[in-house]
Amino acid sequence: MVLTVVQQLGEEDSSFVSPVFASRYVQDPVPRHAYVLPEKSISKDAAYQIIHDELLLDSSPRLNLASFVTTWMEPECDKLMLEAINKNYADMDEYPVTTEIQNRCVNIIARLFNAPVNEKETAVGVGTVGSSEAIMLAGLAFKRKWQNKRKSQGKPYDKPNIVTGANVQVCWEKFARYFEVEIKEVKLRDGFYVMDPVKAVEMVDECTICVAAILGSTLTGEFEDIKLLNDLLTQKNKRTGWETPIHVDAASGGFIAPFLYPELEWDFRLPLVKSINVSGHKYGLVYAGVGWVVWRNKEDLPEELIFHINYLGADQPTFTLNFSKGSSQIIAQYYQFLRLGQEGYKNVMKNCTESARILREGLMQTGCFDIVSKETGVPLVAFSFREGNKSLAFKLSKILRRFGWIVPAYTLPADVEHMTVLRVVVREDFGRTMVDKFLSHVKVALSELYSVVEAPLPTIRYTIELRPGETAEDDGCGVPLPEVVVLKQEVEPVNKHIHLVGGKTKGVC
Ligand SMILES: *Cc1c(COP(=O)(O)O)cnc(C)c1O
Repeated sequence: MVLTVVQQLGEEDSSFVSPVFASRYVQDPVPRHAYVLPEKSISKDAAYQIIHDELLLDSSPRLNLASFVTTWMEPECDKLMLEAINKNYADMDEYPVTTEIQNRCVNIIARLFNAPVNEKETAVGVGTVGSSEAIMLAGLAFKRKWQNKRKSQGKPYDKPNIVTGANVQVCWEKFARYFEVEIKEVKLRDGFYVMDPVKAVEMVDECTICVAAILGSTLTGEFEDIKLLNDLLTQKNKRTGWETPIHVDAASGGFIAPFLYPELEWDFRLPLVKSINVSGHKYGLVYAGVGWVVWRNKEDLPEELIFHINYLGADQPTFTLNFSKGSSQIIAQYYQFLRLGQEGYKNVMKNCTESARILREGLMQTGCFDIVSKETGVPLVAFSFREGNKSLAFKLSKILRRFGWIVPAYTLPADVEHMTVLRVVVREDFGRTMVDKFLSHVKVALSELYSVVEAPLPTIRYTIELRPGETAEDDGCGVPLPEVVVLKQEVEPVNKHIHLVGGKTKGVC
């Protein structure tokens, strides 16, 4: 079973195709839909050219404004990554330096998040493929810890749950389903698109393995109030004796808050925060394929989840879901830490925030949108049409795609499903020039959108000449009687709304 769905672009139904360049090298046709392993080999040049050409039709990653995931790194780092492309990260004894580099990254991140480790101690954490794997591991640790405690108390341990906001990323729902944990979601409400800590704490019961808070909601970039959550939960724990912990999903915000909002308390400074995940491939500024999870203390990661392997050499503890993987991303993460330092990260995040501000203002100036994202948070702009028509957002997204931009439109989760928003994530490589270009394309797209959606059908005015004795009656449908001589037809322009969109700041939409 193939699980991915590919958009069919209405190709003609030929099962063979001879690409132009490749015909220099091969004479035989190449199967268009290569679902069967070809019988014969072809030359490396031809294979390269064929695949290269086909991939030209993928969108350009740099114009993909939907994703938080890094699409640009310095050439020096690209070079390092290529040099490490044949290193399996799992072979820790064979590549001890790479292992050491991952350990340095874990320690750097744990200290960035204010883990209570002194200078000589090493932090507890691992590199993963992304935040999803990191969250699975953190969730498993909470589940196992909770079960162990319940067992020791002689209480049932078969119905664990987690409390989150309805705005959680899909990986939490995956965790819940794959690892049989009930997910209890705090619903959102109009104007409040993140988890309400008061409601979350109300939902906590003795089977809650953790409350998962998000630093940088996927939908709107907003930071949840984790300090308030910590305070309320501390009170509840005191009353009930439950010790319910907090996990912070800092997938997108973990590399933003420490640099832009150092005073904000969201991390291990809060006593109930026991583990934190962050995506190295989002604002950690590395290409797709790296995430991190760190625990507050050794005690927060049950020993029985750690496997010890020795068949590659010395004893190596491991706690990951998969075994083999590339080393390049981990090396690239270390490159960014070494190269940028605190100063560099701060500058990049400041730049992104400034670009987001310019983008937000530009969008507001069109007069068509309400801004849904907050100024504090992940540098993204989530916006919705002022006008209630839900389909406008999807249509705008479609028109922008023609320019090459990918901007997703989506409906918000329960109970604000009636809201449709568009979201532009500002990454390091979405600079000011691109923001300006994007805004000008939005304006063009809007005028197109309104000319199609709003303008009345063209009105045709007839100038008629009456013959002697005739009256200017019609057939009741506005069509002149056949014997009337039509002298002139004037068609009113359909696109009369275009000029309104450009200049006005209010009221057009
Ligand atoms: C992106 C994201 C995830 C998933 O992270 P991956 O690194 O893509 O696996 C989880 N939670 C939040 C809040 C995210 O933004």
